[in-house]
Amino acid sequence: MDLSVVLSVAALSAPTSQSPTSLPMSLSAQAILVALGFSRSSITAAPYSFEHLDNYHLNRDFPAVAGTSRLSVHLRFGTVSVRQAFKQALAVNDTLVSELIWREFFMQILWHFPQVVTRSFRPAYEHLAWRNSEQDFAAWCAGKTGYPLVDAGMRELNTSGYMHNRVRMVVASFLCKHLLLDWRWGERYFAEKLLDYDLSANNGNWQWAAGCGCDAAPYFRIFNPSTQAKKFDAQGEYIRRHVPEFDSLAYPPPIVAHQYARQRCLQAYRQIR
Ligand SMILES: Cc1cc2nc3c(=O)[nH]c(=O)nc-3n(C[C@H](O)[C@H](O)[C@H](O)COP(=O)(O)OP(=O)(O)OC[C@H]3O[C@@H](n4cnc5c(N)ncnc54)[C@H](O)[C@@H]3O)c2cc1C
Repeated sequence: MDLSVVLSVAALSAPTSQSPTSLPMSLSAQAILVALGFSRSSITAAPYSFEHLDNYHLNRDFPAVAGTSRLSVHLRFGTVSVRQAFKQALAVNDTLVSELIWREFFMQILWHFPQVVTRSFRPAYEHLAWRNSEQDFAAWCAGKTGYPLVDAGMRELNTSGYMHNRVRMVVASFLCKHLLLDWRWGERYFAEKLLDYDLSANNGNWQWAAGCGCDAAPYFRIFNPSTQAKKFDAQGEYIRRHVPEFDSLAYPPPIVAHQYARQRCLQAYRQIR
């Protein structure tokens, strides 16, 4: 996983086998990280802020807008405590508080149901007939599905180690439902790329998107990626930021037609109900 971040230290490229206990205590934090195999990355993490979040509940779904806190990477690396974040959020916006509670909720799920690390929370979903096409997975990873919002999200992830939450939901739904790829493939790819990677939040949200989690999206709710783009990126600002060839002939056609994929998904999901 690319760990560039915080403290502007960054990226775990090839960790050595040296254990922290064998390092002299006098070394600075940065020197210890270098000794452990970390190296500086060109990717930096955005600072977090609550100052602009009075209207968080109105802005948080629009990926072109800086309408969220960018707190996740700081919580992940412990550069801010969740208690401090929670206290600040309480003074700013109730919806923001509820998002922090989702984080706690998924931690509880992981603690009480550790089997979710490898298996669906709802056991029936272990029998779903995933297509698991390597070719489709490669197109999804590279942001070349021909669905602009999906592609913009995947490219944002690949270049910055971050992806806006609305777009995370869209790309995850697309992988599981349009492409019928096992949610664990997507979960693993996010784990490799996200700077804010967190096992409980990532696993819980992937299982939610696939429909197999504890509080999952119903199997018949299949995000239409084109409608999502019209609704949440109406001017295509976010899309053009990440997919420069969007307006040209170089942009690929859709990897699968939406209506066809929707029916195929419903059929597969109905078989295990
Ligand atoms: C498929 C998928 C995978 C995800 N993987 C991760 C992950 O590995 N690590 C991670 O921290 N978040 C994950 N999320 C949740 C969410 O997308 C990020 O927390 C959020 O986008 C981070 O940006 P932010 O700090 O600006 O969020 P804000 O909107 O400002 O939210 C504030 C904080 O609330 C918490 N939060 C918000 N939404 C969620 C959520 N749905 N679930 C749990 N906590 C939430 C986070 O700690 C976040 O920093 C995932 C979501 C999806 C749909």
